[in-house]
Amino acid sequence: MINNYSWRTPIKNLILYLAFWIIFGWVIGKLLLSLVIGLSALVAWHYYYQRQLFTWLWRTRQLHPPNATGVWSAIFDGIYKQQKDNRRRRRQLGDLIKRFREAAQAMPDATVIFDHDNTIIWCNKLARQLLGLKSSDVGQRLNNLIRSPAFEAYQQQGDFKDPIILPSPLNSQSVLEIRIIPYAEQMLFIARDVTKLKQLESMRQDFVANVSHELRTPLTVMLGYLEMMEDLQQTPPKMIEKACKEMTSQTERMRDLVEQLLVLSKIESSGDDVFKHTVNIGSMLAQVKAEASSLNQTKHHQISFDVDPSLIVYGIELELRSAMSNLVFNAINYTADKGEINVVWKKTTKGALFSVTDNGEGISQTHLSRITERFYRVDKARSRKTGGSGLGLSIVKHVLARHYSDLKITSQLSKGSTFSFVLPDNMIPEDSPKEV
Ligand code: ADP
Repeated sequence: MINNYSWRTPIKNLILYLAFWIIFGWVIGKLLLSLVIGLSALVAWHYYYQRQLFTWLWRTRQLHPPNATGVWSAIFDGIYKQQKDNRRRRRQLGDLIKRFREAAQAMPDATVIFDHDNTIIWCNKLARQLLGLKSSDVGQRLNNLIRSPAFEAYQQQGDFKDPIILPSPLNSQSVLEIRIIPYAEQMLFIARDVTKLKQLESMRQDFVANVSHELRTPLTVMLGYLEMMEDLQQTPPKMIEKACKEMTSQTERMRDLVEQLLVLSKIESSGDDVFKHTVNIGSMLAQVKAEASSLNQTKHHQISFDVDPSLIVYGIELELRSAMSNLVFNAINYTADKGEINVVWKKTTKGALFSVTDNGEGISQTHLSRITERFYRVDKARSRKTGGSGLGLSIVKHVLARHYSDLKITSQLSKGSTFSFVLPDNMIPEDSPKEV
């Protein structure tokens, strides 16, 4: 078609066309008139196809060109071919952009593209969720939507090597890590939610501070006594006896603390399968009962155990024992002399229920939400006297999380508390004996 169309063809056609009209004019004896008619017909033919071309390009939406002859056929075919190529290229580009957008949408971070005047060009779905941007915000200035002096200073300083940490514009409790990556004429803004990471970091710092604090107190007491005993001859034997007793009790406190920390770290790092072994809670609670009565010798509580010995569950014995005994011993420690404590282990419609109810001092609502945090104690001085480290309930919480359960606490100040949890049905083996 267009490839084999050379300039010789139209000239040859024109010569043949004019020759026809010259011969025709000469035959009829009106050469001039014949030439005028022939040239007018040629001009009319060109005008006709020019009009066709105009209508095809501007008035109709159809891709296919109108039928034409001669040079116009080559022109129409050429334009048609170019349009087809353009359409194909546009489709390919469109597909590429679509794939790029899909990839950007699937990114786990909020992504915004903006230009050097801070005008937003595009943002992904996560940017709408994390930063509260809307599709209508395209065209708006980014710092109108993220109003933070720190962010403005970060942008102005122009050094984007390190990310910036900012509170989320939607929720001041969430923390975002924001990176800006300049590329070509635009900037890529990437924000990720690092709230959990920051919380973990501050928990780690608190943890180290708490452990150091907990160890420093007994160590200071011991150091005081040791300094006093430097001059043994001068120290009255009664004082030495008192110092030894106190140092033993402080050493025991530190040992208990270290032991509890080890239990906690073991539970946290353990990957044991809770469904591997079954635990006979009945016989385990019999041992806890014996330990509770020896702990109860000074306070003389009335402790009752209402236990279904046939109720066996899947789990890790050491962990469940640690959780249950912590709850029972806490009830003894935080209930005034001659109080009542009731321990229940039974099957309910929801699963296996364990509960410890006491009529002790209770816990106020302000403390309830924080009571399972590590080292959290309602009354530090009082808890230290009972030998408490503030780690007991934290151990319980971790053990229960691994056993698909969670701790429920209901408590009323000066009336008492109930600490309970339910191990779900799937933690009870199907062949568990129902009767002894
Ligand atoms: P601790 O080792 O100090 O007992 P826990 O984590 O076991 O630490 O308990 C945290 C705090 O919760 C205790 O210091 C105590 O104030 C409170 N608490 C726990 N159990 C009871 C209870 N049965 N009655 C009242 N307060 C309790």
